[in-house]
Amino acid sequence: MTALTDLTITDALAKLRARDISAVELTRAYLDRITQLDDQLQAWLTVAADYALNAAEQADKARAAGDDQPLLGIPMGIKDVLSTKGVETTCGSKILKGYTPVFSATSVARLEAAGMVMLGKLNMDEFAMGSSTENSAFKVTRNPWDVSRVPGGSSGGSAAAVIAGMAAGTLGTDTGGSIRQPGAFCGITALKPSYGRVSRYGLVAFGSSLDCPGPLARSVEDVARILQVMAGHDPLDATSMPADVPDYLAGLNGDVKGLKVGIPKEYFIEGIEPAVEQAVRAAIAQLESLGMEPVEISLPHTDYSLPTYYIIAPAEASANLARYDGVRFGLRVDKGEMWPTYRATRGEGFGAEVKRRIMIGTYALSAGYYDAYYGKAQAVRTLIKQDFDKAFEQVDLIATPTTPTTAFTIGENTDDPLKMYLQDVFTLPASLAGVPGLNLPCGFDGQNLPIGMQLIAPAFGEDVLLRAGHAYQQATDWHKQQPAFH
Ligand code: GLN
Repeated sequence: MTALTDLTITDALAKLRARDISAVELTRAYLDRITQLDDQLQAWLTVAADYALNAAEQADKARAAGDDQPLLGIPMGIKDVLSTKGVETTCGSKILKGYTPVFSATSVARLEAAGMVMLGKLNMDEFAMGSSTENSAFKVTRNPWDVSRVPGGSSGGSAAAVIAGMAAGTLGTDTGGSIRQPGAFCGITALKPSYGRVSRYGLVAFGSSLDCPGPLARSVEDVARILQVMAGHDPLDATSMPADVPDYLAGLNGDVKGLKVGIPKEYFIEGIEPAVEQAVRAAIAQLESLGMEPVEISLPHTDYSLPTYYIIAPAEASANLARYDGVRFGLRVDKGEMWPTYRATRGEGFGAEVKRRIMIGTYALSAGYYDAYYGKAQAVRTLIKQDFDKAFEQVDLIATPTTPTTAFTIGENTDDPLKMYLQDVFTLPASLAGVPGLNLPCGFDGQNLPIGMQLIAPAFGEDVLLRAGHAYQQATDWHKQQPAFH
């Protein structure tokens, strides 16, 4: 029999509904698995066992009383950048150590209202800045496929927890790739929704014009279940879209025949590992055999995405992170007077990468440089978005590799920030354009490390993305593979 912790959300819900298992049993199975594995994997920053068991008991009572919410009794983990009422939220930073929010992020609150059982909070790069979780102030999460390697980042804990069976699904956040890239490195299904599809309220801000909460899980169907609950307008986030949310689950089995899939030539370039290119090309051939039509396209401004992002994201971060001053919450290094206290608190509280971004961002926004850097980057961002607008006049979806390489080893890129930034070349453009991107596991390299394909759709086209992804997963079983220690 499949272990309880290997069940998809879809299968776990069926068993809960049939009363084959209880939410408490399922939750205990996950908590045991965390106890068994997390010393080695280091995916969790907080395991909220009592909180989870209490929620599971409530879920069982609710079900006994006839309730059947979409995630009733499903144990999940939450990236530590999303505020959780009564449960410590650190963003992987010393500066927020000990901070316990008095409210929950809308995305989390909606999952809880749908019956989700929150197991705890997951490790991440500090303030979501990074691609490996090595920038966490607390621990480095290991890749369950090879513990000498990184799980990707910044939502590395969220990705590792799913593939290791330590949560049925998780929430991550993606500013430039932080859901999709760890999804690719850990071999799981991971969706960055369109900007504005899911509320950012309670998501501790990094780059406010880019940040998106999204689901990581074992299948497209599971991702659709989670997205369904989170998506939609929130009066507490003025940038959330006041538009109807389609029924993603109902749409999963719709026809994919005739969908045109753009293959941008700028994404198959030198520097991409041959095994990655081969697996993604094979996945595209699979889409074709399902009746979709590959079409070569061009996204001519792709090369500018990296420099554009690395002006805009740090600029926004430098403004957002000004609020950590040792006065209102988190760390305070008291030096008696105001300025010395600010300086000491921020000096000790932030790690090296966060300081680097604050300095880059402050420089890019300073008088005399604003137009040359920030203004220019915004203009180029528009060109990048127009590339997608033009492409989507011609195609329904775009398929690319999610990352140029498979998971790298711990320490391999830490001395070279530029090499680390290059991790994001294939995920940044969709972030800058605000369009949704889905990582689908599509193969393995010679070292048995997962490879991911990214599907991109027009803004608010998550339904098409999920439909195509589901069709792909009906025909393949890459998403069902698990690491050997399972
Ligand atoms: N790796 C990118 C960065 O460091 C993206 C991070 C993210 O999406 N949060 O900024």
